[in-house]
Amino acid sequence: MSDLQFFGHIIDNEEVDSLGGERFDVWNPWTREVWAQAADGMAADADRAVASARRAFDEGPWPRLGRVERGKAIHRLADLMEARTDDLARMDSTNMAKPFEQAKHDVARSVWNFRFFADHQRDHCGETFPMDSGHHTYSEFGPAGVVAAISPWNFPLMMASWKIAPAIAWGNTCIIKPSEDTPASVTLLGRLAVEAGFPPGVLNVLNGHGAPAGSSLTGDDRVDRVTFTGSSSTGKLVMASAATHLAPVSLELGGKGANIVFEDADLDNAVYWAVEAIFRNAGQICLAGSRLFVHRSIAEEFLRRFVSAAEALTIGDPFDPATRFSSLASKRHFEKVVSYVESARLLGGTVLTGGVADDGSWIVRPTIVTDLPLDASPYCEEIFGPVCVVNVFDTEAEAVHLANDTRYGLNAMLFTENLSRAHRVASALRAGTVWVNCFFIRDLRTPFGGVGDSGVGREGGNFSREFFTEPKAVVMQIDRKG
Ligand code: NDP
Repeated sequence: MSDLQFFGHIIDNEEVDSLGGERFDVWNPWTREVWAQAADGMAADADRAVASARRAFDEGPWPRLGRVERGKAIHRLADLMEARTDDLARMDSTNMAKPFEQAKHDVARSVWNFRFFADHQRDHCGETFPMDSGHHTYSEFGPAGVVAAISPWNFPLMMASWKIAPAIAWGNTCIIKPSEDTPASVTLLGRLAVEAGFPPGVLNVLNGHGAPAGSSLTGDDRVDRVTFTGSSSTGKLVMASAATHLAPVSLELGGKGANIVFEDADLDNAVYWAVEAIFRNAGQICLAGSRLFVHRSIAEEFLRRFVSAAEALTIGDPFDPATRFSSLASKRHFEKVVSYVESARLLGGTVLTGGVADDGSWIVRPTIVTDLPLDASPYCEEIFGPVCVVNVFDTEAEAVHLANDTRYGLNAMLFTENLSRAHRVASALRAGTVWVNCFFIRDLRTPFGGVGDSGVGREGGNFSREFFTEPKAVVMQIDRKG
């Protein structure tokens, strides 16, 4: 009998193996060892999970619960998550080498996602308009049905919670498929939902690979909404699959974020956030500031400070409290990032600092590259690792042009002390989110999503309400005329 931990599917409030007994290994990228196994979902397991969610939606109490009761149940789950913060964070740290302190921060944000949407659905349930014709009309936001949610490995718990929280808060039932690289924390979340007293089938967790587990969910005509976070190429497959049964999709995809540092920026602040934007989570962030543009007049000074701050990051064991940076999330991903660093050199780039740690680990050190042609793949494509490509600019118009010259459009950052310029440039940037003099701050009331290859649709606040419900207009005659 293996003493490895096991993460099953959570279906109908039971933790179960796959029907055929299939399992896969779960790796710890820091130790480069297998530390657990997870159930490997096949089409039959996906079918079982969808049937459970469908039953829970069509016949179960969840969509029929009052808003206050549903909100209370979700707050109970959030309480349990808070109490198990260290366990949830330990799973993400073990599973993808995220520094433990950062993983705890992710748990806190995940808890907040649940609390926010528990209250939001209670307080934003529609509008009423008295009409001059003697009618009243009101909007009603009823649940959409069964939601299939597919999440990536870079923020395993947090990305999943962004999807599950609004889906269930609005009265839907949900099946979440976490990335095969990081099944642990989401499975624990499923266990906590059972403990919180959720009715069976409201939150099912299906572990397994993109295909067949994920693709079986997206192509199932009993699924009413598909919400996906992952790469642009997989997003296109997901959209095509959901289109076979006309399920609306919300796609949060890749990015190649621009970070513009103007000549009047507060340099200490700009350097601090430039480091966070590309080296936090070892650069495995869709929102990473991977293309940095700095004004020529301050480029030398900025680069000196940026390189020195990057080299000062403590690299090591994710559980060491001093660690700010650790290995990449998997061997496959490590090899992908290494290939980009190698091609940056081959294509004429100057690596100012960083590169591969040739100690057998899956670490790519914080890497800063200059002199790369604008058509080079490490500049144009999403690397999803700790590699920042730096270019200089001379004018504001040039900076905006460079920032927008990409097929992605998830986010951008700009650093300036000039208020007019901040507004002007923020408005001109083609991106779903623009941060001015900061990074990674999110208010759940605002839209989140991307332009172009970075996604389809927006989530957050009422934007999530529009996606996860079937809005309805009711028109009622008040005065009978004539
Ligand atoms: P992938 O697109 O490879 O996978 C994302 C999820 O989709 C995983 O659960 C994966 O399963 C699953 N999947 C793969 N193939 C299919 C399929 N045919 N049908 C249904 N599901 C499928 O992305 P990564 O996990 O590698 O995550 C990194 C990507 O996510 C980056 O591009 C990043 O930019 C993006 N991302 C975007 C964010 C945003 O908010 N815009 C936030 C975070 C990440 P499996 O793991 O088993 O293959």
